[in-house]
Amino acid sequence: MEIKKGINVSPGVVIAPAVVLDAQEYRIPRRKIDAHEVEGELDWLRKGFEASLAEINLLREAMSRQLGEDIASIFDFHHGVLSQERIRDQISDHIRKNKYSAAYAAREDLRDYQRRFLNMEDVVLRERVRDVRDIERRLLRNLCGHVAEDLTHLNHPAILIAHDLTPSQSANLAQTKVVGVAMDVGGLTSHTAIVVRSMGIPAVMGLKDVSTQVSHGDTVILDGVKGLVVIRPDEEMLTEYRLEEERIQAMVSDLSGLRDKPAVTEDGTRVTLFSNIEFPYESRMVLEKGAGGIGLYRTEFLYLRSETEPTEQEHYEAYSEVVQAMGSRPVIIRTLDLGADKYTQSQAMEPERNPFLGLRSIRYCLQNLEPFKVQLRAILRASIEGDVRIMFPLISGLMELRQAKMTLGDAMEDLEELGIPFNRDIPVGIMVETPAAGIQIRELNREVDFISIGTNDLIQYTLAVDRGNERVASLYTGSHPAVLRTLRDIVRAAIRDKVDCSLCGEMAGEPMYTLFLLGIGLRHFSMAAGDIPEIKNIIRSTTIGHAQKIARRVLTFDTARQVSNFLRDETRKLVPEAL
Ligand code: PEP
Ligand code: MG
Repeated sequence: MEIKKGINVSPGVVIAPAVVLDAQEYRIPRRKIDAHEVEGELDWLRKGFEASLAEINLLREAMSRQLGEDIASIFDFHHGVLSQERIRDQISDHIRKNKYSAAYAAREDLRDYQRRFLNMEDVVLRERVRDVRDIERRLLRNLCGHVAEDLTHLNHPAILIAHDLTPSQSANLAQTKVVGVAMDVGGLTSHTAIVVRSMGIPAVMGLKDVSTQVSHGDTVILDGVKGLVVIRPDEEMLTEYRLEEERIQAMVSDLSGLRDKPAVTEDGTRVTLFSNIEFPYESRMVLEKGAGGIGLYRTEFLYLRSETEPTEQEHYEAYSEVVQAMGSRPVIIRTLDLGADKYTQSQAMEPERNPFLGLRSIRYCLQNLEPFKVQLRAILRASIEGDVRIMFPLISGLMELRQAKMTLGDAMEDLEELGIPFNRDIPVGIMVETPAAGIQIRELNREVDFISIGTNDLIQYTLAVDRGNERVASLYTGSHPAVLRTLRDIVRAAIRDKVDCSLCGEMAGEPMYTLFLLGIGLRHFSMAAGDIPEIKNIIRSTTIGHAQKIARRVLTFDTARQVSNFLRDETRKLVPEAL
């Protein structure tokens, strides 16, 4: 049994066998097996070879059709290596004699094979090492049960163990039986974390080397509350966690009774609780959890799930589906926030040195006006179907906002010329997620209908701490006094300027911050649907006067630790089962 501690990014407790995926390099652990497991590993090896050969045959056929037999023959070498009995026998011997897992034995033998090619005199033969590497990757992928397509074939619940997943890879997990995710890298507000949380899949990230410690099929306990992963647990631990699983389920079902109750404080102040979504199908879950609307629709996921750019019609259909599902409830559609950790295929081909400070979000849109206008026209078309609002991300100054609004004006003109109806008075807002926007908030407020504070980015840019980097995860915190004072100033400015202000970063769904945020005057929250019941419970258990007292005290503290300890204690006093 081994226990690993990471960052708890999505709550819940699950116990299931592991499926191991390493998206970057196939770093296969040196795992010893017991004598009774040898036959199983040999069988697994045989299947791995068969699957790899089948893939090569398909590729060869397709290549032959498209480019001719000459070009297709480049796969003959791959075919030859994979069908050679000698290599397979050698790996099988390795498994039998040394009792290594099939993946480890195959990796070792193929590495040895590569070394032999590398030592060849003949340059042409030496070049073959690339092909051997390719064969190794293919075989290991098959031996480890890798790739998303394979995950869709999972026929039992499993915990996915990976070095890393991109937000687009995680987007496909909804169609699989994956019930938990554990990763070597990642942090609380990385987009991969956000996606799995919105799917309600418990997850622990920043575990450093979990992908090298777990083998395919190992039993794993994933505790997304404490941020623990228990590998090959003993009976005592299993019993303890089965009880914990039941306890959490009971708590969730208790809170579900709040669904139709209003989010109103004990002294009668109403708070709106909206939900963040990435995919149209989430609208159903949003309604089940009792959200009053969509406070942030992260539309860029439309791009991330497909290889090609979505058309105006595809954009429109996605927005329309959400708007229709939400009826008269507001739907705030955020324009494309591509770049940084959410990159398109073409952006992946040209990685930036510093992508979070690079061509992301509104900057990307303003340099790529055509796809931006395609999206704006689609949002406008959907605007007559409900209460649709537009929000621009990562605004860092007035010129950017004005340029974005001008482009919106152009999109309106396009539709007018075509005689397509839209809401000319569609409310336009911005995300306040750069320190620059926070400092210039009064000027920005004059030119928008609403603002929404994106604390995920605001924290990273205020503290200069990468939101997705597990190595600095302990420095990434909303409790830092600099962050809290910035939030106070933004909310205060919005109240003075009579501009609707919401908060849609992950802080909105963290119970520890609810009292503080209420206390500084925030009345609109938007969060992952699953967080709504717990936040509503806290709101219904306090008064505004009490929250204001808490906020005043919090703003006197000098360090993040003092803030977190105080807020945790005060929240627990009100709602003991919170946190
Ligand atoms: C944020 O930055 O807080 C936010 C809500 O947007 P995203 O997480 O998509 O960057
Ligand atoms: Mg953001």
